[in-house]
Amino acid sequence: MAPMTQGRPLLNRRLAEFGTTIFAEMSALAARTGSINLGQGFPDTDGPESVREAAVRALRDGRGNQYPPGPGVPELRTAVAGHQQRFHGLAFDPDTEVLVTAGATEAIAATMLALLEPGDEVIAFEPYYDSYAAAISMAGGTRVPLLLRAPEFRPDLTALRDAVTDRTRLLLLNSPHNPTGMVLTREELTAIAELAVERDLIVVTDEVYEHLVFDGEHIPLASLPGMRERTVSISSAGKTFSFTGWKVGWVTAAAPLVTAVRSAKQYLTFVSAGPFQYAVAEALSLPDAYFAGFREDLRAKRDLLTRGLAAAGFEVYSPQGTYFVTTDVAALGEKDALAFCRALPERCGVVAVPNSVFYDDPVAGRSQVRFAFCKREGVLRDAVERLGRL
Ligand code: PMP
Ligand code: GLN
Repeated sequence: MAPMTQGRPLLNRRLAEFGTTIFAEMSALAARTGSINLGQGFPDTDGPESVREAAVRALRDGRGNQYPPGPGVPELRTAVAGHQQRFHGLAFDPDTEVLVTAGATEAIAATMLALLEPGDEVIAFEPYYDSYAAAISMAGGTRVPLLLRAPEFRPDLTALRDAVTDRTRLLLLNSPHNPTGMVLTREELTAIAELAVERDLIVVTDEVYEHLVFDGEHIPLASLPGMRERTVSISSAGKTFSFTGWKVGWVTAAAPLVTAVRSAKQYLTFVSAGPFQYAVAEALSLPDAYFAGFREDLRAKRDLLTRGLAAAGFEVYSPQGTYFVTTDVAALGEKDALAFCRALPERCGVVAVPNSVFYDDPVAGRSQVRFAFCKREGVLRDAVERLGRL
């Protein structure tokens, strides 16, 4: 039974449904069993040496060792704005339209805490990245899932339109989408933008995989007509530069939205990652070749892992973006993704993540399992060989 005091559970009801995150559970399982960890999405090699050195230099030079400014150090805010201009043609004022956060996770939580009143509805794709549900709930909001159906995982735009009610406050988008790898097309984004304008909705868009699109292109929602003023765009250095432990993320949006998000953010962490902010500023200014090389490296890894999984008998939904591939293990005679993932280390020394925990719908993702391919080639080959023995 849950621990109680004064006759009620210690954990409040906003968090009661959220146990330990699946990423923590599965990484602990990998460590305990010595398995290859294709579960939690983190690379097994660090990002560019020059960026690591920039962090060391900042530490040594005493830059960022004391509280940096609340919105983030000016160098990083300028670099974030420069990156939005260089890759997406979007102009943001570094002083009023950029906010540095403790990873995308804090950006998402602060945005929900800033913009939601209790009872407000947030429409989000299902399966959803796990922190979305928790952040919405902590802010007192209600999540309204919009099911992405295998094998294509495209959003049903009619269902989206029907899901909007008088209580809808936000659309929470994620493209490239974790865990399915779906990348929204211009047509889909246009329809979403038209709906947002028509119903006067704010759209929060999680674009942490913006540089990992293999098929199609990443189009920021903020670049569509009418969206610049009503979009909160979120990204992070963790994925793009392979420094997930640094937890440097950012928000770009019109000044009133950034001011609102900052109101919540300043009482969560106030600031974080001082020296790393300077290093990420340098990372964002790396030449185009870095970003292209990163994408092509992961494209080859996607192809290696998807081929291997298909050969091992998995039904494979090849991702258009991100560094995850979703599979269905029903093809292997398995019904329950969570049970499959808990048993997998014992069976073949590999760890994966059950997508079923990212769904409210008990059926849709029941036998879906996600594998991460942000690992060294030899590790992926080894994993494929082990999975082939199933
Ligand atoms: N959004 C998505 C879709 C993610 O996959 C992740 C995990 N990296 C995050 C947000 C969190 O990013 P960060 O580590 O920067 O908090
Ligand atoms: N975003 C990473 C993933 O999807 C994990 C981040 C985390 O552990 N919270 O695997």
